[in-house]
Amino acid sequence: MAKGFQGKILKVDLTRLSVAVEERSEYFYRTFMGGSAMASYFLLTEMRPGRDALGPENVLAVTTSVLTGAPLAGANRYTLAAKSPLNDGFGESEAGGYFSVELKKAGFDALVIKGRAPRPVYLWVTDGRAELREASHLWGHDSGFTQTAIREELGDAKIQTAVIGQGGENLVRFASVVHDLRHSNGRSGMGAVMGSKNLKAIAARGRLEVEVHDKDKLRELTSYFARNMKDHPVCAVLKQGGTLGWDMEDLDSDGVLPTRNFHGGSFDKVESVTFEKLKATVSAGRRTCYACPIRCKQVAGGGKFAIDPQYGGPEYETSGAFGPNMLVDDIEVIAKAHELCNRYTLDTIDTGMVIAFAMECYENGLVDKTDTDGLDLRFGNGEAALALIPKIAFREGFGALLAEGSFRAAAKIGKGAERFAMTAKKQAFPMHEPRGKNNIALAYALSPTGADHIEAAHDMPFEEGRWAVPDLYPLGILKGVPARDLGPRKVRWFVYNQHVYSLLNTLSMCFFTVGPARLFRLKHIPEMVEAMTGWETSLFELVTLGERTTTLARQVLVREGLGKKDDALPDRLFEPLDSGRLKGWKLDREAFAKALDLYYEMMGWDVETGKPRPARLHLLNIADLDQFS
Ligand code: SF4
Repeated sequence: MAKGFQGKILKVDLTRLSVAVEERSEYFYRTFMGGSAMASYFLLTEMRPGRDALGPENVLAVTTSVLTGAPLAGANRYTLAAKSPLNDGFGESEAGGYFSVELKKAGFDALVIKGRAPRPVYLWVTDGRAELREASHLWGHDSGFTQTAIREELGDAKIQTAVIGQGGENLVRFASVVHDLRHSNGRSGMGAVMGSKNLKAIAARGRLEVEVHDKDKLRELTSYFARNMKDHPVCAVLKQGGTLGWDMEDLDSDGVLPTRNFHGGSFDKVESVTFEKLKATVSAGRRTCYACPIRCKQVAGGGKFAIDPQYGGPEYETSGAFGPNMLVDDIEVIAKAHELCNRYTLDTIDTGMVIAFAMECYENGLVDKTDTDGLDLRFGNGEAALALIPKIAFREGFGALLAEGSFRAAAKIGKGAERFAMTAKKQAFPMHEPRGKNNIALAYALSPTGADHIEAAHDMPFEEGRWAVPDLYPLGILKGVPARDLGPRKVRWFVYNQHVYSLLNTLSMCFFTVGPARLFRLKHIPEMVEAMTGWETSLFELVTLGERTTTLARQVLVREGLGKKDDALPDRLFEPLDSGRLKGWKLDREAFAKALDLYYEMMGWDVETGKPRPARLHLLNIADLDQFS
């Protein structure tokens, strides 16, 4: 067996309440390595096309990677992937924390979960063993209750759990899975997939160390990170204020802070929703993920809403969605919204965005108080937003409509509501403005999951003359590209950056610690993989793996009937921004269409359909997936 892996994959059949262990060759492990690529492989090979995302035949893949458990800052993420109940094609979501390390130490590189249990269960994996346990007594309870009960039942407070609350049980299409109550697999509705399978939680604890090729090299990389962290701009800013401190004011001054459901790019009350404001009100400390000295994870507690600190605190995405994008200027509302979403397991981005969508419908007279259970849904009403969160989780009243996500809710409301749904492939936009950073326009349109801000690096630090441009030299990108540009140089830039980000999702690494403009640079990635496995690898092999990852996900999408027609953006992006430094800017339809066609050509995909061509699949060694089984 290859070093760096456990060599075991757990197959779980919930319908039969059975588990089985499978072993794979080193060839398999070197081709996919973990995370996103391995998950897509299982979706392609273990699931038949056209199945219901919320039916028993959907497959939920849970994958760690070759680097999971290495003592490297950021080597702590894991992937959940399945057919998405939001886009009915491909769903995937990563989270950091500690769960991945416990899962791998429990003896498994991946879990492949099928079927639907006849009654609620949870999966318990430890030291090479796996068992499905009764969870009827946990059903109907929130994530905090569930985690505490499982730890007490199994008698170990160090057990790591990935659980669903009522949002997942009630099949909210954007339900999340929450690990340790503070780390979310937020996107793509993976919580609803678990709920549809009657799977309340996965609990992991292990003591099985993975064999490592070169521990001294790993120590050297760790000490490099610790030595240089304080001088690196991204590490320093994250250490100071987390993602909230990094993004909120910078994006506002750049004119790319989504405001009033993506009408504008600047919020006139931004100082009310900054990290400094959080620090002065309901900040309750800072937490971290496995082996990471940055400690960027906020904790909030107390305040006028009695925020429970066990659920962590708001990241920038949550703050943007419940703050400027719905014109809310109260950081305590934002922190409470974060708590409620993690408690009930709802994606904070989709939840905030569907509420902003509802506010725009309300202000335009498409819905009124008779529809909204009496709530006054004007923009800026934070307490109404808080009241809607449990309604969505429990599918009560107006919440039942919003639980379908903005795209489907718009179709049901009709009357032109579709123009207020800011989604791509039916998934809501994260808090980054595509008109001001055009790489994000490509990312939202082309990500296999739908709108996703972690599809490639963001434009600003890579403009000509900016500090991060040299980080792209190893990819052969020798000049910066303007943020607002959709020409061939930008498309090439996007393609290579997408390969790198897909690679990071496959190696299950935190994109704040490694990659372009990060302290762990591109040259360190082969060093990490080599230190774990002993393989003589290269940036070439690994960037190709990144492309393989993107293409595998595209294969899943295409198989489910999605393609070029779905690589689209809402009309609003082709209309001018109405506030901020970039007021008046919009995307050019023709330039965007040309950029997509060029992207397909560069990726070796058919320009008419957006389907990967056979030659590219052969080049990436995935034309015949049977060879890996
Ligand atoms: S940078 Fe933040 S999110 Fe990434 S591993 Fe470190 S603490 Fe976790």
